[in-house]
Amino acid sequence: MSIAGGVDEAIDRGAELGCTAIQIFTKNATQWKARPLRAEEVGEFKRKRSDSGILVVAHDSYLINLGSPDAALWKKSAAAFLDEMERAEALEIPYLVMHPGAHRGAGTQAGLRNVVKAFDQLLQSTSGFRVKILLENTAGQGTALGDTFEQLGKIMDDTINPERFGVCIDTCHAFAAGYDLKTPRTYEAVWSELDRWVGLERLKLFHLNDSRKGLGERVDRHEHIGRGMLGPGPFRKIMSDDRFRKAPKIIETPKEADGKDMDPVNLGILRDFARTR
Ligand SMILES: [Zn+2]
Repeated sequence: MSIAGGVDEAIDRGAELGCTAIQIFTKNATQWKARPLRAEEVGEFKRKRSDSGILVVAHDSYLINLGSPDAALWKKSAAAFLDEMERAEALEIPYLVMHPGAHRGAGTQAGLRNVVKAFDQLLQSTSGFRVKILLENTAGQGTALGDTFEQLGKIMDDTINPERFGVCIDTCHAFAAGYDLKTPRTYEAVWSELDRWVGLERLKLFHLNDSRKGLGERVDRHEHIGRGMLGPGPFRKIMSDDRFRKAPKIIETPKEADGKDMDPVNLGILRDFARTR
């Protein structure tokens, strides 16, 4: 949800769409530097959130790469992620969603080590923080880390404090990374795989997006719900799956199609699936 005009404005936009949960960037997602949050803005945000009862989660900046083999970029990323954590904590946001990063040619194991090293520093300098870091699974595009549930589990468990983590599962990324949510048998296999490496109890959030690309194509292109390669089936299943009833679900689908505002359409489809469970 856009934070144009201030972080609190995102809550108004979410309320208008009838959302029970929204995701925001607490700063411009494509810039390193951000002005500090103003005290009035934080106050307004908390007031609107408690009035509306909307759950707000944050997503980190796209520039951050804790897996970087470049020491300067790794350091800059860790500093920027610390700022993300501080902003989320100031806003009393429970979850900060992040992409583990990319190894940029250094190899998966080296990349994962860099991510864990960054988290160990970050966890130490934020001891006492309540915000949980949610690792989001990726499509595995290029040298992106985190395309397997095994990697997500390992990152968390290799840090000094695994309890401060959870995961966010993006359906588009999972499908593009080779997790077939489409048939009843493979749908179950995907969740057993997540349970095996991560544990379903650590799944805290969903990103529900259809995929423009096919199974295992390792390309991250979000599509409107039901209109992509996943089709409506997997979304109908997730919306009526008792195991996921309590997990908040966020859409990151394209905002428009043929000049039409698509958020109400995509949300409407998912709400129908939840109602006809
Ligand atoms: Zn996502």
